[in-house]
Amino acid sequence: MESAELLIENANLIDGTGAAARRASVLVAGDKIQAVGAAADAQAKPTARRLDASGLTLMPGIIDGHLHSTFDNAAGHDELFYHRRPGMAAITAVRNVRNILTAGCTGFMDPDSLFDLGVDLKEAINNGVIEGPRMAVGGYALMTSVGGAAGRLMPDKGVMAYAVLLQGKDEIMAEVRRQIKIGCDWIKVHVTGSLAHRRSEGEMVTFTMDELRTICDLAHSFGVQVAGHCRGAHSIKVACEAGFDQIIHGTFMDDEALEAVVKHQAFLVPALTFQANLMEFGDAIHASPGLQDIFRREIEGSAQMLSKAYRAGVPLVCGTESGFSVTPYGDWHYRELEVFVKHLGLSPLEAIRCATQYGALALRMKDKTGTIEAGRLADMLLIDGDPVKDITVLGRREKLRMVMLGGKSIELGRVEPERGHLPEWRVHEFGNILSKDLVSRTRAGQPAGGH
Ligand SMILES: [Zn+2]
Repeated sequence: MESAELLIENANLIDGTGAAARRASVLVAGDKIQAVGAAADAQAKPTARRLDASGLTLMPGIIDGHLHSTFDNAAGHDELFYHRRPGMAAITAVRNVRNILTAGCTGFMDPDSLFDLGVDLKEAINNGVIEGPRMAVGGYALMTSVGGAAGRLMPDKGVMAYAVLLQGKDEIMAEVRRQIKIGCDWIKVHVTGSLAHRRSEGEMVTFTMDELRTICDLAHSFGVQVAGHCRGAHSIKVACEAGFDQIIHGTFMDDEALEAVVKHQAFLVPALTFQANLMEFGDAIHASPGLQDIFRREIEGSAQMLSKAYRAGVPLVCGTESGFSVTPYGDWHYRELEVFVKHLGLSPLEAIRCATQYGALALRMKDKTGTIEAGRLADMLLIDGDPVKDITVLGRREKLRMVMLGGKSIELGRVEPERGHLPEWRVHEFGNILSKDLVSRTRAGQPAGGH
C-alpha cells in the first residue's frame, strides 16, 4: 500500500499569497498540506513517498472564478435558448468538468447553469460520482422582465436557459428561497441589462434598490452570498450599497464606484478573457470588427480603474467565462492571469494570487484552499516552467506534470474519445452568408471579413 504521506522536495514554490517564489518542500498527508518548508522536511516520516521537484514550480491549483460549466461552448444565445436539452447538457457537462480539471483548474464558480444542473454537478463531484474540480454554484440568474444581455429575446416571465424572469418582490423572494433550498452557494443577479435598440446608453440597472436590498437581506439571512453582473459605474455603486458580495465584470468604474467597492468590501471578477480572446484572436473565427472594437474599448476603458481597485486592497478574482465558443473549456483557464498582467499591470505573482488565494473567495472556501500553507487542502499543480517568467506557461498542458486535488493526483494522460457532431446542438450549420461577393473575394484571395 502507498504511504499516506508525500514529501515534494526542492520545488520552486509559489504559495499563492503573493509572496516571492522560494525553494521549499511540501508535505502532503491525506487530503491536506501538512507542512511547508523546513517543517515539512522535519515532520516527514521515513516511510513518506518522496517526489523530487527540482526545476519544477509547485503552486496552488488555478481557481476559475467565473465559468459556465453547462453551456458546452455555446456560440450564442440562440444555442442556449433553443438548442440545449437537459439530459445532453448534463452528459456534456460531465465530460467538460473533467477537461477543466486536467487543464490545472482545481476549482471554479459557476454563477448560473442551464436546467439548474450546477447543484447536481457539484454534488456528483463532491460524492465521487464523477471527477471534476471543486465547485461553487448559483441557480438561474435573476432578471426582471427588462432582461439581461439578450434584450428582446428574453420573455417577460418564467425560466429561459440560465435565467429566470421575475415580476416584483414576491416572485423575487420566492425564487431566492427556492435557490437556497436546492443548495446554491450564490444568488446571481443581472443588476444590469442591455437593450439592442438603446445600446449607445450602455447597460442599465434593471432592478429597484428596494428589490436589490431584499435579495441581499434574504440571502444573507441564510448565509448565502450574492453576486451581481454589473457594467457601468452607477450599477456598481447601487449593488455595493444593497449589500452585494461579488461584482461580476465591474467595468467602467468611476472614483465613486471604486469607493463603494472598497467601503462595502465586495470583490471583483472582471472576467475579461471573453473580450480579450475576441479582441486578439477574433480574426480566426471571422468575428466582426465592430464587435472586436466594443470589447477592446471595454478592456482599455476599464483596465486603469481595475488596477486602482487592486492597489486599494480590493481582491480581483480571475474568471474566464469558459463555456462559450470563444472560450472553450480546458484551453483558457490561465488566460485571465495573462490579461491581468498585460492590461492591468499586475505582476505575475499578483495575478497568480488573484487566481488562487482570491479565487477561493468565489469558491467560498477562503482559508480552506487557494494557498500552499499548512492545514489547507492539497490542491496543487506541478509545472515544468516558471510562470513568474512567463505566465502563459500555465496554459500549456504539456508542461503540467501533476494536478493534485485534495491530495489525490489526477490522471492526465487519458485520451478522451473524439467528439462528433450532436444533432440540433450547434447553431452555425453553414457559417457565413454565401454571397456572390464573398465567393469572388475568397477566390481572389481576400479575407472573408465579418458576418
Ligand atoms: Zn458569465
